[in-house]
Amino acid sequence: MHSEFYFEKFRILENPSLLSYFSERLAEKFAPLSPNRVVGPFSGGAILAYDLARILGVKAAYAEKMGHGRVLRRGFDLRGERVVVVDDVYTTGRSLLATAEAVKRAGGEVVALGVMVLRGEVALDVPFFYVLRLQLPSYKPEECPLCAAGVPLRVPGRGST
Ligand SMILES: [Zn+2]
Repeated sequence: MHSEFYFEKFRILENPSLLSYFSERLAEKFAPLSPNRVVGPFSGGAILAYDLARILGVKAAYAEKMGHGRVLRRGFDLRGERVVVVDDVYTTGRSLLATAEAVKRAGGEVVALGVMVLRGEVALDVPFFYVLRLQLPSYKPEECPLCAAGVPLRVPGRGST
C-alpha cells in the first residue's frame, strides 16, 4: 500500500516512559483476564510485551519469524498458561495473528490481543484492545494519487519487525 504518511513505531519504543503510557493503558484492560504471560512478535511487539509483563507481574516471551509464520523458540513453555498477545501496530494483523498461532502451538490459551496503535480493520473472535487509532489514508499502487502526480516512492522502515 502507498501513503503520504509513515508511522514510525520505534519513536515510541525507543522512549521507555512513552512506551509505558501505552503499556499501562493496555495493562488495565488485560488485568481482569488474569493472564500468566504476555507474548509479542520480535522485535517491536517483544519490547511492548516485556514492558506489559513487568507491569502485570507475569512472564513474557517473544515469537520469531520462521518461513511465513512465527514460532516460539528459546524453550518458552506456555502449556496451561493464559496468554495475552500484543504488537506495536496493527495494520493487517499478520504478525499479531501469526504470534497467536505460535502461542497455541506452544500450548498456551490466547485470552486477548492488544496493540498500541490500530491502523487497519479488525474482525477477531477474542477480546481485542488498542490505545490509539490512526486512520491515515493509504492506496493500492494502481490507484495511488501520489504516484499519479509523480511523487517519488520511498520505502521506510523495511525490515524493522
Ligand atoms: Zn504511490
